[in-house]
Amino acid sequence: MSTLKRDKWSRQYGDWFRSVLIDAGIMDYRYPIKGCGVWMPYGFKVRKNVFEILRDLLDSTGHDETLFPLLIPETSLAKEAAHVGSFEEECFWVTRGGLTPLKVKYALRPTSETVIAPMLKLWIRSHADLPIKLYQIVSMFRYETKATRPLIRMREVASFKEAHTSHATPEDAEAQVKEAVKIYKKFFNEVGVPYCISRRPDWDKFAGAVYTLSFDMICPDGRTLQIGTVHNLGQNFSKAFDITYETEKGTQEQIWQTCYGISGRAIAAVLSIHGDDHGVVLPPNVAPIQVVVIPIPYKKKEKQINKTCEGIVATLKKAGLRVELDQRTDMRPGPKFYYWELRGIPIRIEVGPKDVENKEATVVRRDTLEKQTCKLNELGAAVQNLIEKMTQDMQQKAWQWMKVRTHRVDSLEEARQLVKKRAGIVEVLWCNRTECGHKLEEAVEARVLGVPVDIEEKVKGKCVVCERKAEHVVRAAIAY
Ligand code: ZN
Repeated sequence: MSTLKRDKWSRQYGDWFRSVLIDAGIMDYRYPIKGCGVWMPYGFKVRKNVFEILRDLLDSTGHDETLFPLLIPETSLAKEAAHVGSFEEECFWVTRGGLTPLKVKYALRPTSETVIAPMLKLWIRSHADLPIKLYQIVSMFRYETKATRPLIRMREVASFKEAHTSHATPEDAEAQVKEAVKIYKKFFNEVGVPYCISRRPDWDKFAGAVYTLSFDMICPDGRTLQIGTVHNLGQNFSKAFDITYETEKGTQEQIWQTCYGISGRAIAAVLSIHGDDHGVVLPPNVAPIQVVVIPIPYKKKEKQINKTCEGIVATLKKAGLRVELDQRTDMRPGPKFYYWELRGIPIRIEVGPKDVENKEATVVRRDTLEKQTCKLNELGAAVQNLIEKMTQDMQQKAWQWMKVRTHRVDSLEEARQLVKKRAGIVEVLWCNRTECGHKLEEAVEARVLGVPVDIEEKVKGKCVVCERKAEHVVRAAIAY
């Protein structure tokens, strides 16, 4: 029988998340600056594996990795009016070089449109230079005045993966938005994180964008977390920075742009959605260690037990798995189990004296904590199968979690009750007027996430606020 528990995980999610980050060796956020955290060695390995998936997806779709400066002159940031209006108060500003006050102060990158734009202006000459698809993985800084949360609301977002693309036509930019959505869907599918995709309402889009699409997930406490965004920038920045290209006909046109990003919240999402009261549960493809082998020592049999364990490790390594043999002598097997469970190692193999006698091992999967016995000569294939099964099961369970927490309702009152219970996302019919959007947010005490772009349906009925003809379904939730 499974001993899997998710009480603390769901009821005290905030505490669970904070303690699991430090206890499992992912991130230590006790740094003397609020909102800055330290990626610890184990966490860094998880981060690396997760981001490698995204890097591969971007590389294989014609994106080139680059690295732009961290400092932005205020004059650049100020060029796009909506943009600077939104970010001015959220920036960290460098105002002095040594003891000398700077004539033009520098912002620490809150986002990179205005870092990249002046360079695009120099690089782009003709239609033959387009499209340009760049990305970088960098820190960005926001002077958060709200309560910071490790990985979720940071002042230094230490692993922002942002792509910036330039195109000759609005159609090309629109197609790029679609490609970006496809890439992010693949990425989140690979790490087993369920999501919904919504077009953010105009009052909540990225400052400087024509429109913003957002990926949201539901956390164990019923709040949603924005885990990825895709923006169509139109010509807003190319106009502000006068980035033009020569068309085939010889005329000068301004370029069309998109940008999209995923932050360290992607890691928060992976840890949050799969975790339980024992700690982290990592999908096998991102786990730094996929299998841990633990000898159960027994008087006079130690040598044989250790030899069997070493044989198992060699076999599994040969099969391409990331394996660790825990031969620490200062720790009993029980505490070792907890140690590796906390860190989310997908598979544990135990070998005791009986196992050696029977040419067997005990195999435990982390997601359900179910045990099974397996013949040594079949262990390689069994572990591979189990990894595949676990990957699928974890994905299914996570999507099921999302599904039962997404509620289509007919009235504001029903929506309000569900939100009050922290039941997840509510979907209602909406006339598409801003006025009703704001009233909805007020009445339900939640944030409008936007109109679904991941489901197609003909809307029939009335706006839940004004009872005019509805144009869309709209999602709302309490969001991080
Ligand atoms: Zn309405």
